[in-house]
Amino acid sequence: MRPLANYRGRKIVVLGLARSGVAAAKLFHRAGGIVTAGDRKERDACPEASELEALGISVVCGEHPDDLVTAETALLVKNPGIPYTAAPVRRAEELGIEVVTEVEVAGQLSPAPIIGITGSNGKTTTTTWTGELLSAAGLKPIVAGNIGRPLVDAAEEIGPDGWLVAELSSFQLKGTSDFHPRIACLLNLAETHLDYHGSMEDYVASKAKLFANLSEGDTAVYNADDAVCARIGAASGGRRWPFSLTKRLDVGVSVEPPYPAAGGGDEAGSERAAAGTAAAEAATAGGAGQQPERWIVARDGNGAETRIVRVDRLGLPGRHNCANAMAAVAIALAAGAQPTALQEPLEQFRGVEHRLEFVGTFRGVRYYNDSKATNPTATIMSVSSLPAPLILIAGGLDRGSDYRELIPLFRERVKGVVALGETRDKIRKVAEEAGLTSVAVVEPVEDAAETLQRAVLEAAFMAGPGDIVLLSPACASWDMFPSYEVRGRIFKQSAHTL
Ligand code: ADP
Repeated sequence: MRPLANYRGRKIVVLGLARSGVAAAKLFHRAGGIVTAGDRKERDACPEASELEALGISVVCGEHPDDLVTAETALLVKNPGIPYTAAPVRRAEELGIEVVTEVEVAGQLSPAPIIGITGSNGKTTTTTWTGELLSAAGLKPIVAGNIGRPLVDAAEEIGPDGWLVAELSSFQLKGTSDFHPRIACLLNLAETHLDYHGSMEDYVASKAKLFANLSEGDTAVYNADDAVCARIGAASGGRRWPFSLTKRLDVGVSVEPPYPAAGGGDEAGSERAAAGTAAAEAATAGGAGQQPERWIVARDGNGAETRIVRVDRLGLPGRHNCANAMAAVAIALAAGAQPTALQEPLEQFRGVEHRLEFVGTFRGVRYYNDSKATNPTATIMSVSSLPAPLILIAGGLDRGSDYRELIPLFRERVKGVVALGETRDKIRKVAEEAGLTSVAVVEPVEDAAETLQRAVLEAAFMAGPGDIVLLSPACASWDMFPSYEVRGRIFKQSAHTL
């Protein structure tokens, strides 16, 4: 899109009145645009409407009128979740009107350099951790984007000497064209969100947009263990600054000695030592033998080598979190952080709610809330990070996957499965195929919270002292709950009332 000032006196349509839409509508209004904000929800369900109207912004709730987007519309800013098949979006595209997300707008606005972090899994963890590293290094970050706070709000607040750290989803990135981060980071790529993107190609292309405008002076941080991430990172115009769990890198951030290339479940669990947390206890209890002392090491390609932190001292468990930590380290170093500032926040970080969150020990059984694991890859990572065997509560929205990739995990690391949600029968089938004998299916009752409570009771029934019960659904929550946060909180409450 063009600079904001170009939209003065022009017609702007903002589609979707979630927080980012409200922020974008206000911004264009202040910039002199003639803004109409539309939302399919009925007026009663749009509490933001009155506030916008009081400012002089037109608001259209309910069915989108045919003339919401016209040839006079200069720009359509759409909520990332609205599909490209929605009528006003299709109409804008037919008329050749640019369709963007609020991220593109924030990119025009921010006086500070931007760090964009994307990937299929680990975005929120890595973004939050990066914020901690940058703060510790005195680099004045503001963390925003997919993580919660609208990016345009943060872009308006930040000064030129800060860093805007943005968690970015593929939905957000698909609606960008000129977005130009100083540092772009791609964590990993797994098959997900295909219902929205239509194909893996479109999903990958959306992620790759983060790297499209990198040029000299910018940095591409990417996962060298993932062939597609490596291809995207290496093809960009920025300095290459990869990270790897499994290879010693002459330029980039690696684990040394490297992890073996495949598997690593037991190892990941036993490697962990979030000192003082129950996760640490749990992971160490899983002990899979002596591990070599591993370090995260950065090499700049000119002979300088810096040992950053010991892997067993990282604040979060598992190989996947080691990868997240390496990405955050690579970003922080690229932003100019002193390596010595990084050790403490790498060791002290305790993660984000609903991501392998320790809930407590009840009747001798430890409970973990990983409600944010909304696809099988995330569940595999989490289960592999905790000591086996454990009892897994899984299932949720059916997006058409068959979950067969969970079979080896079930065989190696899971003692019992409690299945719920739309995918309960698929999960049950997979568990039975893996040879598990403790498998329970919770049929839905009217109150979704009660269904989940029953699942927790089933899991508690299967568990013996010293066991772990993990909610890591491998599915989105929307078949039963408004969000994974609600699902996670009900799980925690249920565990606390055991
Ligand atoms: P996102 O914001 O991308 O959804 P989160 O940081 O919220 O990612 O983590 C969600 C879940 O994904 C975690 O609970 C964990 O199970 C899994 N996960 C986190 N980091 C990684 C990673 N680097 N690779 C694979 N899975 C991961």
